[in-house]
Amino acid sequence: MLRGLGLGVLSGAVWALLETTLHWSVGSLIPPDVLGLMATLDVAVAATAGILVGLAFPQAGAATTALGVAGAYGLMRVGPGLKAELAFLPLAAGAAWLGGRLSGRDADGLLRYVHVAVLAALGLLLFEVYLNESHAASPPRGIALLALVAALPLAALALDRLLGFLVGPRGRRFALELAVGLAAAWFYGRPLSATPFEDPVVTGVPPGAGAPDVILVTLDTTRADHLSTYGYARETSPNLTAFAADALLFEDAHSTVGWTLPSHASILTGLYPSRHDARSAGGVWLGGESIDGRRNVARPLGPDKTTLAELLRDRGYHTGAFVANFSYLYRQFGMAQGFQHYQDEPWMLLRLRPPIVRLMHGLRPALWLRPYFPAHDIVTSALAWFDARSPGRPTFLFLNFMDAHEPWLAPPPFDRWATPLPNARLLATEDLYTHQVRHFTAAQRDFIVANYDGGVAAEDAALGELLDALKARGRYDDALIIVVSDHGTLLGDHDQVGHIGRILYEPLLHVPLVVKFPGADHPRGRVATPVQTIDVFATASRVAGAAVPAGTQGQVLPDVNHPILAEDEINAYLVWSVGEHYDRALRVLVEGNEKLITTSKGGRMLFDVAQDPGEQHDLAPTEPARADAMEKELESLLPFEAPAPATAAHPAPTG
Ligand SMILES: [Zn+2]
Repeated sequence: MLRGLGLGVLSGAVWALLETTLHWSVGSLIPPDVLGLMATLDVAVAATAGILVGLAFPQAGAATTALGVAGAYGLMRVGPGLKAELAFLPLAAGAAWLGGRLSGRDADGLLRYVHVAVLAALGLLLFEVYLNESHAASPPRGIALLALVAALPLAALALDRLLGFLVGPRGRRFALELAVGLAAAWFYGRPLSATPFEDPVVTGVPPGAGAPDVILVTLDTTRADHLSTYGYARETSPNLTAFAADALLFEDAHSTVGWTLPSHASILTGLYPSRHDARSAGGVWLGGESIDGRRNVARPLGPDKTTLAELLRDRGYHTGAFVANFSYLYRQFGMAQGFQHYQDEPWMLLRLRPPIVRLMHGLRPALWLRPYFPAHDIVTSALAWFDARSPGRPTFLFLNFMDAHEPWLAPPPFDRWATPLPNARLLATEDLYTHQVRHFTAAQRDFIVANYDGGVAAEDAALGELLDALKARGRYDDALIIVVSDHGTLLGDHDQVGHIGRILYEPLLHVPLVVKFPGADHPRGRVATPVQTIDVFATASRVAGAAVPAGTQGQVLPDVNHPILAEDEINAYLVWSVGEHYDRALRVLVEGNEKLITTSKGGRMLFDVAQDPGEQHDLAPTEPARADAMEKELESLLPFEAPAPATAAHPAPTG
């Protein structure tokens, strides 16, 4: 038993080392304490497996024991589920026996053990890389997956035996394999740059006299109807409510699209997605990969576009951005242009989901479900930078909060609505986030909503900290302060959660927008005029004393009279991973209470959002004349584009 324990610990150390190296080489970012926890769990699982294997097969040789312990690793890979575990046991035992025969019979026990443990874990981990990155058309499932996981360590051993014909001594062979593996990791490694992006370009232009600071806060994924400021029953946004009392609150603000990249590009350029073009590529896989290691499906904001940051920088502003949403605001998506300082570091980016992740998700769901920096940290970093700017120039500060974004699990004290729910602990370990359309139970929806509301409250608390800090510095009164959301999200409405690629229902498009103009006698009150997030750009330009660039589609708040439009293109990843459901582009026109949604496949829905805020009763069949008229208008304003060039039905692995 002691021998089993010791050998198990050795295997755990091997797993942790290999995982760390692999994570580094594929560009994951994992905080040291999480990495430490992963290593601890690796060792604990392997030690337990070592004891069990030692008890069950006291006479087993080094290789058989190593493979038996590796079986536990494979089992974590397959994931929980008793049926799978039962089916896996005989497969793993058979593999361990075969592996013992295959691995040769030289006498050096410990070296042989470590060697086999490394080979087995490498086989499994490389399979994990393949599953993550290949986007195989039909990834192995069920018994095929189990058989593969049992056989992969054997395949690694077989390769080693083949190499054995060239390099006989085990030690030399092992060293050679390690050296080649490390060289490959080094050569192909693409560690992520997490240090803030710095662009020291400063114009010689002196700032205009009295040019105000511009503070822009985007509450990512925050739907207006879940803010108490907008009448929601839970007190989710007391700080925004207090701020809105001193500002203009736009009751009827719409986003231009339902997800981060195009919607932020709209906020920062004043253009609809079809004009700024930072959006899905229309169902086509693009070259390269996105930040999470997936094949790329979205175009960045082009350098030819003028952003608010560029405009203000060129008027002598300090420009700094602190964004929590690395998924689509990471520097590679083009939103950093014009910022002298751009902080876009993930709190945690797991480009691979190794076996241990599943186990940890069960043990510490809260830890696992926090890939983004909390709003409080974003505010702290932003204020430190803000305070260090030289006086004499105004500052443009852009903050993006992600606390309301899935995966949802509100941290204390913002879990106050979620923890009292029955089965809250159990629900926390369920993976409720899905791109599929599926029915959520009332308990699941309550849990999703309670955590979402907690996330909104966390953002609101950070907003309060920011506003207090500006006041304490005497930088509040004369600043232009804009709080807006880039889009909302579905929380089980229409049997869906999430937002990217979803039908553009109101929970995605109706967003909060509160604007405080500079000066003591700035306008206050509630504005019912329909406006959009594209109007932020023109408004900030005008207030900063810059001419609104020709071609800007947004207008200066509150005097807005452009049509209310939204649009989204086909997302190749969603079509590939979920199916036909996502294989359509969308266009939206809102006129008064009427809202028309059309699809590039010829579908259309007409809603009266005043009578039917849940968008349950499609009026298009009963009011065809009205639907026709709106569809014609929408087509003239935002036509569907020609289908993207044909792409391979099944994407090839990332090149
Ligand atoms: Zn977003």
